Amino acid sequence: MDFEKPRIVVSKCIEFEPCRYNGLMIKSDIVKKLKDYADFLPVCPEVGMGLGVPRDPIRVVNSRGKLELFQPKTGKIFTDEMNEFSKSFLESISDVDGFILKNKSPSCGVKAINIYPSFEDSRPSKDGIGLFASKVSKYFPKLPLEDEGRLRNLIIRENFLTSIFTIASFRRTFSGGLNDLITFHTKNKLLLMSHSPYYLKIMGNTLANNDNKSFDNIKAEYQGLLFRSLAEDQNPSLNVNVMMHAMGYFSKEIKHDEKTLFLNTLNDYKDGRIPRLVCLKMLELWITRFENEYLAEQTFFKPYPPDLMQITFI
Ligand code: SF4
Repeated sequence: MDFEKPRIVVSKCIEFEPCRYNGLMIKSDIVKKLKDYADFLPVCPEVGMGLGVPRDPIRVVNSRGKLELFQPKTGKIFTDEMNEFSKSFLESISDVDGFILKNKSPSCGVKAINIYPSFEDSRPSKDGIGLFASKVSKYFPKLPLEDEGRLRNLIIRENFLTSIFTIASFRRTFSGGLNDLITFHTKNKLLLMSHSPYYLKIMGNTLANNDNKSFDNIKAEYQGLLFRSLAEDQNPSLNVNVMMHAMGYFSKEIKHDEKTLFLNTLNDYKDGRIPRLVCLKMLELWITRFENEYLAEQTFFKPYPPDLMQITFI
């Protein structure tokens, strides 16, 4: 399977440059590995808005309902500088498929960053989002956005990688015609089913075009549905349904014992005892043995480069 390279905006301090406030760089195996399969657009908003390396740390303060970027050592406030940099950077980029930002940062943190209740208070709550990250969500609400810490989790990583490679593949389709869109839909059917059977059905109706819409309208409608579908994370129940559906293609050919073994393996996966990859490999064996071309083309079995299908990343 051929994979389109996703274009990913990444916090520059993750595997690209030692630009953190303390002059260090952050290690991330997944970002390191993705360098071979994605085009990265590294950005450091704090350096971008004019701070040097190293620098005094900054924090987010909730000042009477307004979030401010504050540097306790100097007493300076950098909120306007950060907002201006974020706007000019985010308005300058296009054809982006996702974002990987640094966790816990007052600028880049995606979830649960420290928010201080006043300029003097030193006891933060942990329920905020970094100022740059909040602008990313505003400018690109439909694109996958994760931090490098959460990407160590297998399920979060699988969902993220699946989304960015599917969106990148769709971007290539976008320049083609209706037939390209139908081909995209056909080979992604099981994958879309594993995210949302509901959206899969509506997407099928959109392509059937019973209302005689223009191709541009179909594309725009389909794109919106695709983003909404990918935003619904896969879960074990939906994955099991899809894999049962795939097994149905072989129900006449496989032996009773093989079927029982597969169903038990699905249960082990559903109960969290083994990763999904084990069930997929069993299905792939049947796809190869019975030469099922339709399933062989399904992205559900290889949504992103196999080299990235590692169980643990640090
Ligand atoms: S977390 Fe963001 S702002 Fe901080 S050093 Fe990394 S890229 Fe720069």
